[in-house]
Amino acid sequence: MYIILLGAPGAGKGTQAVMMAEKLKLVQVASGDLFRQALAQQTGLGKKAKGYMEKGQLVPDEITIQMVLERLARPDVKNGAILDGFPRNIQQAKALDKALAAQGKKIDKAVYIKVSEGELLKRLGGRWICRNCQAPYHEVDSPPRAKGKCDRCGGELYQRADDNVTTVKKRLEVYFAETSPLIDSYKRAGKLLEIQGEGSAADVNGRIVAALR
Ligand code: ADP
Ligand code: ZN
Repeated sequence: MYIILLGAPGAGKGTQAVMMAEKLKLVQVASGDLFRQALAQQTGLGKKAKGYMEKGQLVPDEITIQMVLERLARPDVKNGAILDGFPRNIQQAKALDKALAAQGKKIDKAVYIKVSEGELLKRLGGRWICRNCQAPYHEVDSPPRAKGKCDRCGGELYQRADDNVTTVKKRLEVYFAETSPLIDSYKRAGKLLEIQGEGSAADVNGRIVAALR
């Protein structure tokens, strides 16, 4: 089963991807995490992506598509995956369909997590993320039990460089212009599950699991 998560930055894709991966026994593939890993390891890919990420722009398709398709060629995802952050525009969606079709596979469902713009801005402002397992926290809405430390794995929490006001605005702009048209395209394909993304992470997860059944 291949599932795509759609939704704006701050909609909760990362949180839900982790929860769904556990419940559905699927591996989560997050393009943003792949880029951040490359950046931390200072690989050629990381160096190419850095400037775009800092500005809140999309990394060019040829770089992104190659990176994600290479990840999807690994054995742990040969029977399915939860895709978070990819595809993010029509060209990426086409490249993904083509690559899966070449192996007789397809995207089964696109889960669209819907959250109002005001809520998105609020969430991204106070976001802290685990360096080790990428679990996200919010300083007001969902603080960790111990300050600066991940509840799940004890890892150190940090704030993403692109979670600043200017970059957040740009990321939302890019989302509405380039990514949100995918919602209609998966709807037309009969694959869209629209989920109300406000409320607790557990509630949202319950809605997603119910919709997938
Ligand atoms: P968010 O969804 O919260 O904006 P991500 O972690 O998914 O954050 O992505 C962070 C950054 O990585 C993006 O702003 C962009 O620069 C880059 N990126 C991630 N996924 C893609 C993609 N599919 N295509 C192009 N750039 C991407
Ligand atoms: Zn952690």
